[in-house]
Amino acid sequence: MKPRRRVAIFGATGSIGTNAIRVIRAHSDQLELIAIAGGSRVEPLAEIAREFKLKHVSVFDPGNQTEKELKDQFPGDTSITTGLEGLIHTATLEEVDMVLIAVVGITALQACIEAIKHRKKIALASKEILVMAGEFIMPLVEKYDGLLLPTDSEHNAIFQCLSGNSTKHVRNIILTASGGRYRNTPMEQLAVITPEEAVKHPNWNMGQKISIDSSTMANKGLEVIEAKWLFGMKPAQIEVVIHPQSIIHSMVQYVDGSVVAQMSPPNMSFAIQHCLLYPDRAPGVDPTIDFAKPFSLDFEAPDFTRFPCLRLAFDVLKMGHTAPAIYNAANEIAVQAFIENRISFLDIPKVIEFTLESLSITPPSSIQDIIDADLEARERSLKKTLK
Ligand code: NAD
Ligand code: MG
Repeated sequence: MKPRRRVAIFGATGSIGTNAIRVIRAHSDQLELIAIAGGSRVEPLAEIAREFKLKHVSVFDPGNQTEKELKDQFPGDTSITTGLEGLIHTATLEEVDMVLIAVVGITALQACIEAIKHRKKIALASKEILVMAGEFIMPLVEKYDGLLLPTDSEHNAIFQCLSGNSTKHVRNIILTASGGRYRNTPMEQLAVITPEEAVKHPNWNMGQKISIDSSTMANKGLEVIEAKWLFGMKPAQIEVVIHPQSIIHSMVQYVDGSVVAQMSPPNMSFAIQHCLLYPDRAPGVDPTIDFAKPFSLDFEAPDFTRFPCLRLAFDVLKMGHTAPAIYNAANEIAVQAFIENRISFLDIPKVIEFTLESLSITPPSSIQDIIDADLEARERSLKKTLK
């Protein structure tokens, strides 16, 4: 019998992490959960540790708990690590084969790099990592002869559509987008959207930040940039199409005009399972498409005036260098400011545009240059949102 794949999950209590745990539970003959990492909510991490008898848990921010108080919440033989060091420790554990990275933002950047260097297979949901540092991460994967599997549903779809084909025959890749909640909302109503409304998505059940990014289409913008690095596409080869049903997760059009699409219900468990078991397959944990019931697939071009965050992402894609890092950082700050009611929904793209215009965009010579650009963009955009 094949040995089980040993998995570590970063962001184990989040939307992606919870789905990943469902997949691991259902396929315990093929997958073994070895370690988890989470932010600050200790109890749900402890619950997972008890269920899977985990030896390794990383709590990024235990607040003001003492080491003993923290330890007492976990089974006796669970070792607890904290902070960035804890993440890196978890990513490089001898007994881990694959790390699923599903933490919002770029906190796991360094740990991702170390995991690649330690020849771990990577399932990457945290799109921000490639948006910021794809230029450095992708060559590293190649250098270590590694495997980086895209867990974001669009990129996972493209990965599947490319299987058995050469990228040199690709005319373009077509990322689908649901268009979010506000695809048809009159523009004047967009100005008064509240964070509580923006977080609700018509098709997907996701974390808070990505749900708001879906409403502004900054999420698709980040995915456009992520796609460039993952699949080595030129900006002109990346297209976005609105597909409100979220059943086709993305497509690849080949030079001969054939289009290959990947379909599954709008549930992240399909992409997550594809990564965790790759290259094997097994029955999924959620209901599949029922072709006996009528349904339709619609497509339309995205409206760049309605969704300036998407337009800006295509600009940033062409600018390259530190521009994607600035876009990502400014968006994160703007979304947080929107959540805290400091700016309106329509101010989010304005903050991004302001930050991009007010900082110089330079070719990064190292990851540190990108981290510096990220910090500078955060400071600049924060000032803008505090005015
Ligand atoms: P979420 O907010 O639901 O969960 C985030 C998780 O990260 C939580 O478990 C939290 O405890 C943990 N966390 C926070 N800070 C941490 C830290 N410093 N160290 C370790 N863990 C930390 O987020 P999500 O929706 O699951 O998204 C996670 C990532 O996956 C994001 O980058 C998002 O863009 C990407 N993604 C999500 C979806 C989705 O359907 N939710 C789809 C595609 C891509
Ligand atoms: Mg996606």
